[in-house]
Amino acid sequence: MRPGLLLDRDGVLNLDFGYVGTIDRFVWAPGALDLLVRAHRAALPVAVVTNQAGIARGYYSWPEFAELSRWMLRAVAAAGGQVAAIYGCPYHPDGAPPWNVASDLRKPAPGMLLAAARDLGLDLARSTLIGDQPTDIAAARSAGLARAIRVADHPDPAADLTITDLQAIDDTLLAAIARGDPPC
Ligand SMILES: [Mg+2]
Repeated sequence: MRPGLLLDRDGVLNLDFGYVGTIDRFVWAPGALDLLVRAHRAALPVAVVTNQAGIARGYYSWPEFAELSRWMLRAVAAAGGQVAAIYGCPYHPDGAPPWNVASDLRKPAPGMLLAAARDLGLDLARSTLIGDQPTDIAAARSAGLARAIRVADHPDPAADLTITDLQAIDDTLLAAIARGDPPC
């Protein structure tokens, strides 16, 4: 078991325009590709864990989400990085059938984080999550992660650290994340 880095997607890896479901609306956030390259060099496994209620709400389909995810994996690889897996939750209680269920995959529930840990052999107690919503931080706490980092304009006392964008993850912090060190 090894430490891992779990990343929310919208508002962390890409600019959140609301229900981004297609490649033409996907814009990498500042520092995102660079972080993925540096994580790969540090042998730190990365997984994306993303709520995709836009599928339940009918704004885009699961195949469109899957196509966008495959495009993301290729773009990251072309930049010299690696994402080991992308987990998306298509469910939302207010959605349309068959997606209108309360799923333990949907953050703040920990289901996607637990799936990533199982699939990739991650030690969640030594792993880090970066997210932009309170539900991301709550999912990290529920799954027992070592560290939860919030991307936000104002400090979040529920997070171990608040940053304005991924460019704030310097090499010293990334090395601590890769070692699985607890937050200081
Ligand atoms: Mg988000």
